Amino acid sequence: MGVGHALYYRIISTPGVASLFRSAQRGCATIFMLHRFDDPNRGVAGFDPAKLRRGLEHLRKNRYELVSLESIFDRLASGGSALGGAVAFTIDDGYMDQAEIAAPVFAEFDCPVTTFVTTGFLDGQLWFWWDKIEFIFSMTSQKSVKISLPELNLAYELSSNDMRHKAQEDFTQRCKVIADDAKHRRISALAEAAGVELPRTPPQQYAPMSWDQARACETHGMTFGPHTVTHPILSQTDSHQSKLEIEESWVRLSKEVRHPVPIFCYPNGQWKDFGQREIDVMHELGLQGAVVGEPGFADPRPFANDPAGRFKVMRFGFPETLPHLIQYVSGIERCKMMVRG
Ligand SMILES: [Zn+2]
Repeated sequence: MGVGHALYYRIISTPGVASLFRSAQRGCATIFMLHRFDDPNRGVAGFDPAKLRRGLEHLRKNRYELVSLESIFDRLASGGSALGGAVAFTIDDGYMDQAEIAAPVFAEFDCPVTTFVTTGFLDGQLWFWWDKIEFIFSMTSQKSVKISLPELNLAYELSSNDMRHKAQEDFTQRCKVIADDAKHRRISALAEAAGVELPRTPPQQYAPMSWDQARACETHGMTFGPHTVTHPILSQTDSHQSKLEIEESWVRLSKEVRHPVPIFCYPNGQWKDFGQREIDVMHELGLQGAVVGEPGFADPRPFANDPAGRFKVMRFGFPETLPHLIQYVSGIERCKMMVRG
């Protein structure tokens, strides 16, 4: 962080300053997104729960309105004047650390949070494809690996941790831009080439929460929304699979939890990862809307101007530091975005 930045963050952290911007925030809401949480006992490195606690403490102390995701969607639908700068929290995927580490912290601050679960993951049918890639690159004893497929030849040097990390990143990125079935074939080829056997069920650091844990979390203020059955990038599936992924995850979720949230979350969540086809399916199912992983505020304008707007509600990653958090929720970021147009 440069001197200018450091000074800027000192200024906005000064009591009273952020509140000057809050009127800019009244016409919108902030939805935060989180993924994994530190769980040293299981070897998981994720978001530090102490930082989450500090953030929630700040929001409570400064009387931000912490509301459920459904409440944000209701307010958006009714014109947005009621948004009032409210803040909502979401977590993606359904890992065990989200139930065991994150849920108690949110409960401590009586803060609603919606977790989007991949139902096949909780049903014990699969583990995530990116975790398999990480597992293969961390477990292989080989110093290099070569993958030869009809459509692709790849060779990675793996003699240092840095090289392994880069190889993992490169391979994961390549898997995001191909058809879902080809992706799974490619990962099997990688496992074979690297001499790593993939267990059928996930090793403990990649394990899901159970449905029992999900139901227990519900009693402490966590709610659950659908996030497909197998977590494919929907634009990389055919129409049949795409429909099934959305429909089945909603059906399964509705059977397992008491209060399923009718708001969908797209896997990977970038604009290119879904389209009108997916929106039509959700519309037919009667879902209330959907969130993306693209950064932005929950804004009433797209709701009013675009019939698909409620299926494209944006979220910010939850910031690691307090000054960044203040910037998002206080209206400062909103003002900056307005200035940038
Ligand atoms: Zn996800």
